This record gives sequence, C-alpha cells and structure tokens, in this order.
Amino acid sequence: MTNLILFGPPGSGKGTQALILAEHYALKHLSTGDMLRSEIKNNTDLGIAAQTYITQGKLVPDEVVIGMIRSVLEQLPPTINGIIFDGFPRTQKQAQELDQLLAEKNTAISSVLSLEVGDEEIVNRILLRGKTSGRTDDTNEETIRARMNVYREQTEPLLEYFNQQKKLVGIEGEGSIEDIQHRLRTIIDALAS
Ligand code: AMP
Repeated sequence: MTNLILFGPPGSGKGTQALILAEHYALKHLSTGDMLRSEIKNNTDLGIAAQTYITQGKLVPDEVVIGMIRSVLEQLPPTINGIIFDGFPRTQKQAQELDQLLAEKNTAISSVLSLEVGDEEIVNRILLRGKTSGRTDDTNEETIRARMNVYREQTEPLLEYFNQQKKLVGIEGEGSIEDIQHRLRTIIDALAS
C-alpha cells in the first residue's frame, strides 16, 4: 500500500491536491476537515461539539479525530491501493496513533509531502476560498490568523517527527495547481519505482 500524508498549513492546497492525487493513483482520500464538516452538516453530537473549535480556529480534541480515523480505517477493505491523509495528523499524539493504527494493519506511511507556502499567500488564498467555500472559518481574518498560529505551534513541530522517520519531503507549494500536482507526482512516482 502507498500511504501518503499531505502536510502543510491551512490554505496550502492540501485538499485540492489530495483530491487530484487520489483520483490519479486510485487512493482513498481521508480529510478530517471534510469529515468534521459532514458531521456538522448532519447535526450529529460530534459535529455540534466540533463546531465551536472550528469556528474559533482551534484544533478539535485528539480523541475525537483519532476516533474518526480509527473507525474509517477499521472499515476499509484490505484491497485498496493506499490512503492519502489530508489535514491529519495535526499533533504529535495523532501522528503516533496513526503509526500504531497502520502498524496494526501491517502497513505504514510511505511518505509525508509537505507543501511550503508563505504566510501572506496563505491568508490571501483562504480569504479568496472563503468567497465560495461557504466555510465560516475562511471568511474571518482573525480566525485565519488563529489557525495559522495553531499550525505553527502544534502542527509544524511534526515536521521534525517525520524528518526523524526519514519520510519528509518538502515541496514548493506556490504556483499553479498543475505545477504543484506535477511536483507531487514526480515524488510519488519515484517512491513506487
Ligand atoms: P481543514 O479543512 O483541514 O482546514 O480543517 C478545518 C478545521 O477542522 C480545523 O481548523 C480544525 O478546527 C478541524 N480539524 C481538521 N482536522 C483536524 C485534526 N486532524 N485535528 C484537530 N482538528 C482538526
């Protein structure tokens, strides 16, 4: 199995790129952000609890997102080509749990592809996305800055964790969608060969 983590700050293009990669390589796309938004839309207890964190730009507690990922992984057929994780893991605890959950399935993360995008570009991209995404966390600059701070403080330190595992690959995340997709595929194709 080829299991990839698409890593990077909010607005770095993880979701856009993950969708195209998932289709191209026939990978299962797992986005905790999408899963949480679907819970909110369906008005579930989990969604109601998660909404407050999301609108404040904070991370939803580890137990909640790890529980969601665990139940999806338990239900995946063993025949799949692999998984592309988008927006997960975001904390050290999530990364360790993910390693363990995959080990229980006799598999592991193949590579962590980290999209590198500057701060001002991020704020602009998210505000632009907010015009059409319908996401309340995309329209308020204060929430966007809070998400970036959370990323720097809680998520970015994971780069060191992946680096120690020798799985980290940095990718220039600025440019056209096609250019970035091409850069990602070059790395992924090299993994398989
Ligand atoms: P995203 O769509 O990945 O930008 O996620 C939107 C929001 O959902 C984040 O700002 C967090 O509040 C929450 N969220 C998504 N994934 C996670 C995660 N792995 N851990 C904690 N919170 C998450």
